[in-house]
Amino acid sequence: MRLLSALIAITARGALSAISGEEQVPLTDTTNPDHVDTPLNVAIIGAGAAGSSSAYHLAQFAREAGLPINITIFDRNPYIGGRATTVNVHDDPAQPVELGASIFVQANQILLNATRDFNLSTTEDDDDDDSPIPGAALAIWDGQSLLYQQTTGKTSWWENAKLIWKYGLLNPLRTLNLKRSTIAAFLRLYTSPVFPFDSLTDAAEQIGLLPAATNEGKEEASSEVDDDDDDDAESGFTSRQPQRQRQHQHQENFDTVILAAPYQSLNLTLTPSSLLTHTPSPIPYVSLHVTLFTTPHLLSPTFFNLSPDQPAPKTILTTLPADEAPGQGSSSAGSVGFFSISLIRSLRNPGTGEREYLYKIFSPERVSRGFLARILGVGQRGQSGGEKVEGVGEGEGAGVDIETENDDDDNDDMNPEQIITWLHRKLWHSYPYETPRDGFEPIRLDHGGRGGNKEGGGEGGRGIWYTGGMESFISTMETNALMGRNVARLVVDEWVTGMRER
Ligand SMILES: Cc1cc2nc3c(=O)[nH]c(=O)nc-3n(C[C@H](O)[C@H](O)[C@H](O)COP(=O)(O)OP(=O)(O)OC[C@H]3O[C@@H](n4cnc5c(N)ncnc54)[C@H](O)[C@@H]3O)c2cc1C
Repeated sequence: MRLLSALIAITARGALSAISGEEQVPLTDTTNPDHVDTPLNVAIIGAGAAGSSSAYHLAQFAREAGLPINITIFDRNPYIGGRATTVNVHDDPAQPVELGASIFVQANQILLNATRDFNLSTTEDDDDDDSPIPGAALAIWDGQSLLYQQTTGKTSWWENAKLIWKYGLLNPLRTLNLKRSTIAAFLRLYTSPVFPFDSLTDAAEQIGLLPAATNEGKEEASSEVDDDDDDDAESGFTSRQPQRQRQHQHQENFDTVILAAPYQSLNLTLTPSSLLTHTPSPIPYVSLHVTLFTTPHLLSPTFFNLSPDQPAPKTILTTLPADEAPGQGSSSAGSVGFFSISLIRSLRNPGTGEREYLYKIFSPERVSRGFLARILGVGQRGQSGGEKVEGVGEGEGAGVDIETENDDDDNDDMNPEQIITWLHRKLWHSYPYETPRDGFEPIRLDHGGRGGNKEGGGEGGRGIWYTGGMESFISTMETNALMGRNVARLVVDEWVTGMRER
């Protein structure tokens, strides 16, 4: 179900036509009671956090302003969410698990309000039964030893005391203060006078976060982005599977187009090309392998150099050994080989009724089944129950299917034991390499501006808008949802201003 990109043709008069591939799914509310004579006709390309927030807030702001609006969302995938998506463990809809984004915090107002408005629940711990899983909640592993272990998931005086013992009083305090001040600064983006912002660069400067994006870590980060991963990330957004491309075209005129996906993934054709005042640069994405699997085994303590009677930690983050220089791209986890392993929860195998454990691994390269067997301490090669492999393109970007590895380590025919009972892999173009920059992509890509510009675009909210600038600032569900809301506000404000001026 991988798809072509959306092609947008724009006539000289500023009316927009969206031409999409056959499998683009228009997600539209045909029952909209506000449908009256001349609604603003809006196309949103991308149904991730940014696009769906744009749609939700456009509908809300237009309703509040008493204006009719038609919104059509296009996405190459047949689901809403983009990089925030779930898969079903053992194909059981009662057992969803996040394949992409999953975590948000109390300060994330839009996501928090959405959980309330849509009557959703959040999850901290949903084990199948009450028998607790032993082991520290969190640990840091450098491939040789566990440098730090936190007993519980919650911050207690004891955990704080351990942190202070290890890192001194000042460092944890500094970190805490930095976190608090950054969140406080960021929250200013939500309200007047900063919101709505027609330039992310100006807004970041206004709230005092532009220096953070400009200066820190300048040298390492810029050399990182010059590296080979750049090419991979970029090319991943163009389809490498021409046999899947079918050029069925859906044509419709739109007044306003919101581009809510990385520009490089859109493969836009603009007529005339001069309609854009700015073409966004490709975003250099980190290639991240996510491996989800279930097993009746817990992680092996001895793999982590613990004694056999000590349980392994439930979440393991990694760092490089002290004597190892940082690598880049596929070597960025160094000799340790992975970024994190998390025990998500325990559950019952729907076939056998046995208790098993659901794990998630983040790594810069594909982890083999042999590696899975080793971390579980079963000493044999893993056997997979129904393995699913997704390349970039199922949830974001297009077309890089992961090849099945044929190395010996991955040969599971030799193992009669059911070590891995379910396995799902996904290669994401996950989040950008955050390089130092003194500006972000513009929010308007055409000739418009606040109040409208009748010579170019920009009349009454019409024009071409882009949410992707937020990716290079902070790439999260909340920040992109905020950008979606911001664009929605700008469109409706311009529309209202344009009507008053007429
Ligand atoms: C493994 C992983 C873990 C993460 N963890 C977290 C986390 O815990 N918390 C958090 O806040 N963030 C997390 N993130 C980041 C977060 O997922 C993103 O910042 C956010 O979801 C981006 O939203 P978006 O709408 O801007 O982009 P996307 O979600 O990428 O949405 C873009 C949409 O556009 C569609 N699209 C692209 N090209 C086209 C085209 N040509 N035609 C039609 N449609 C197209 C895509 O299919 C997609 O649906 C994680 C990301 C990954 C990959």
